[in-house]
Amino acid sequence: MLAFWWRPLSFVALLAFFSLFIGAILGRVSGLVVLSIGLGWGLFLHLHQLARLYAWLGKPGRSLPNAEGSWGEVFYRLNKLVRSHLDAEHRVSAELEQMQQATGSLPDGVVILDGHNSILWLNNAAQGMFGLRPERDIGQFVSYLVRNSRFNEWLVAEDYNQTLTLTAPGAQEKTLVLRLVPLSREPQMKMLIAHDITEITRLEAVRRDFVANVSHELRTPVTVIVGFLETFAEMDQPDPVQFKQHIALLREQSDRIRRLVDDLLTLARLEGDSEVSDEPVNVPSLVERLLGEARGLSHGQHEITAEADGRAWLLGSEHEIYSAFTNLVSNAVRYTPPGGRIRLRWLEREDGGVEFAVTDSGEGIEPQHIPRLTERFYRVDRGRSRASGGTGLGLAIVKHIIQRHQGRLRIESTVGKGSTFAACFPHERLIPPPVAPSVDAEPQADAA
Ligand code: ADP
Repeated sequence: MLAFWWRPLSFVALLAFFSLFIGAILGRVSGLVVLSIGLGWGLFLHLHQLARLYAWLGKPGRSLPNAEGSWGEVFYRLNKLVRSHLDAEHRVSAELEQMQQATGSLPDGVVILDGHNSILWLNNAAQGMFGLRPERDIGQFVSYLVRNSRFNEWLVAEDYNQTLTLTAPGAQEKTLVLRLVPLSREPQMKMLIAHDITEITRLEAVRRDFVANVSHELRTPVTVIVGFLETFAEMDQPDPVQFKQHIALLREQSDRIRRLVDDLLTLARLEGDSEVSDEPVNVPSLVERLLGEARGLSHGQHEITAEADGRAWLLGSEHEIYSAFTNLVSNAVRYTPPGGRIRLRWLEREDGGVEFAVTDSGEGIEPQHIPRLTERFYRVDRGRSRASGGTGLGLAIVKHIIQRHQGRLRIESTVGKGSTFAACFPHERLIPPPVAPSVDAEPQADAA
């Protein structure tokens, strides 16, 4: 502050001193004239700088003029102030833009509303979810655009703890959970957040269906067993022949429960364990084993053949691969009428991968069922599946195992002609058989 006063005061002091000096030499009038001219000149200079400042204030975009003395100091400080304001403004607008970009690409829909529920801003996700277009809808009341009575009642209630589950107005296949968050009191603003819960809802429905299906599958054999046991309890002297028949039926039902529980445990294990072991699996020898098992299962009722490329082994879990392949083979035997043909093949594919294909000359499957066959408990013919000992979980397990090995299940079928179920694996899973120990190795070792 002192620095500011120093210049004008020293100018006035100097002028007064000079005027006194002139007055003393040339007379009082001359001194007064010099003082007036000096003060007038000083006043003119200040008015000139004031006019420049005034002109600048009219168009503050330009940089401030340069000046000497106190005005120079004023302009310099003003310049600094303006620059720091501009910097802050740039920073804030860059941060705002960043925030808008981040919010804009959020998977959740975000709509900013004012106190009257007019739309101030919305992100990309909200546009799809609510069917809104920013260029048309900003400034409009959201309740005019989202015409849903439940939504409007909820919006008017403004209960920030209450969420609303709604079918997306702009995408009927989606389910949304809406939440209101207060943003500011003055001016009153709030944020409408829409979270897509379609997948969660679907998974919940799958889980509910699964529990219902398991209960249903278990109820039948359990009811049969309980019925038999009650009959036994009422018999004073059971007929040994009838007793034996009943025991056989009891065993059949218990087997059914065991198979179901085994398959459920397998599925649970596969889902719980994300890692698959990478061991060399000798698939050609596995195919030999499967051929023997298939013939045993068929009791000579089918013509079953197998061919395998001996040079192709697989990298994976032997236990899981066996489980998947045996499921495909047993399905072929169970769904192919006596006299039919079944062919097992293990061969390299043209794309460099490898596949295990089971082709049968069975009844075939209508095209509309094919995409659903790997769903849990999905059967084309429930009675037929149960009668042949099926749990309805076989192909679900197969698909799971193949996917854990980065493969896919290929299903081709023609009604009346038969089906092919193939487990296809990518090139990376195909390995050559391990090199057998050299024949010369032993004699050499002996000689040593
Ligand atoms: P299931 O225990 O009922 O056999 P899967 O999951 O193994 O259960 O198979 C699902 C359904 O796919 C079967 O119920 C059957 O309708 C059909 N299916 C599977 N394999 C064959 C096949 N080789 N030929 C005809 N239908 C088949």
